[in-house]
Amino acid sequence: MAPPLSADKFLSVLKNAQLGVVEHGKWRSHNRNSHGNWGPVNGVMIHHTGGYSSEEDMVELCRTGYNDLPGPLCHGVIDRSGTVHIVGYGRTNHAGMGDTDVLLNVIGESENLPHDNEADTDGNRHFYGFECINTGRGQTWPSAQLDAMARAAAAVCEAQGWNEHSVIGHKEWQPGKTDPYGIDMDDFRARVGKLLRPGAGKPRDPDKPKPSKPRPEPEKPKQSGDSSRVPAYAPFPGADQFRARRTSAVIAAMGERLVAEGCDTYPSGPGSTWNEDHRRSYAAWQLKCGYRGPDADGLPGQSSWSKLRVPNPKSTSTSNPASSTRKDGPDTMPQTLADVAERTLATYAEAFIGLIAASHTTDLVDLSAWQSAAVAALPAALAAFKSSLGTVVGRWGTGSWLPKKADPATGTK
Ligand SMILES: [Zn+2]
Repeated sequence: MAPPLSADKFLSVLKNAQLGVVEHGKWRSHNRNSHGNWGPVNGVMIHHTGGYSSEEDMVELCRTGYNDLPGPLCHGVIDRSGTVHIVGYGRTNHAGMGDTDVLLNVIGESENLPHDNEADTDGNRHFYGFECINTGRGQTWPSAQLDAMARAAAAVCEAQGWNEHSVIGHKEWQPGKTDPYGIDMDDFRARVGKLLRPGAGKPRDPDKPKPSKPRPEPEKPKQSGDSSRVPAYAPFPGADQFRARRTSAVIAAMGERLVAEGCDTYPSGPGSTWNEDHRRSYAAWQLKCGYRGPDADGLPGQSSWSKLRVPNPKSTSTSNPASSTRKDGPDTMPQTLADVAERTLATYAEAFIGLIAASHTTDLVDLSAWQSAAVAALPAALAAFKSSLGTVVGRWGTGSWLPKKADPATGTK
């Protein structure tokens, strides 16, 4: 997923992009985080400020906001000389509600954005915002300012691992908006692309598949010579699996992979029950793979599924035991319990040997030392048992597996 940059990192990437940067007030902690989510972040949004009396006043207005719209109103204000004024960091009031389809296309870094005709998604959560000082009534855009705008957008994209298709204008997000007025966003993105790939002739991501209709490719689950082993990646479970209220470990595993790929529209983390959040996140993944139209409807198909490489919840050979064993269905419990028993025994043996060593007993027939060590090692083993069980049954180490303490984030939705 794409967690937001730290405030320090944000500052440094702008400075490293040869931008003049001015910090205003306690910008690092000036935000709207107490009023909504911040992150995962998926893009950069460009705005014009609208009419202003002085540039100074406009910077301050963007920092403090006004009665109906409290500040900060963006992360950075880019003035007409190209200086970037950082006024806040975190969730800021710049994007408002916008079009989910646009968001999914931004996540998928699609080259053609759909028209924004809905306002059904919180943009302040997902976008960095730059307010660029311009009346929005036909005022010219100085080249120094345009250059700084592209540099700032490119710097953030580079730090986040995005390309220029993660940059949009407010007018492409929210119905009725015109900002940034007078700027063709395709031209602007091309400019950002050139900064991201100096020397490249055409602004095109070489890693990206052609946006033409992808052909289905045969599913080849990874399988070693030993045919009794479970494949490391879950084979496509069939379209039937992805219907409302279907619950399975493979859906949860799929959600974790989507989050890891930055295709995250989950309000509170993916669960194991198929729902609209899964569908949207999967649609973003399909767009990212180059599928378009009905091929990016959010319903998993064989070929996009293969590309996602969902770890097989039944696999015991995954490198990360925490992800392969937690939140599993009943069919993996025996293995899970075996792991717990193994860890408990190992901890017990370790504690026991440690105590024997600490007792300075060289005479191994000294029975009382053995006995007392055996008893004293018990609490360590019990603690290991409890934490292991917590790890595999609920949120790791929290004991949330206890019946009355279900973590709402892991519950079914
Ligand atoms: Zn705007």
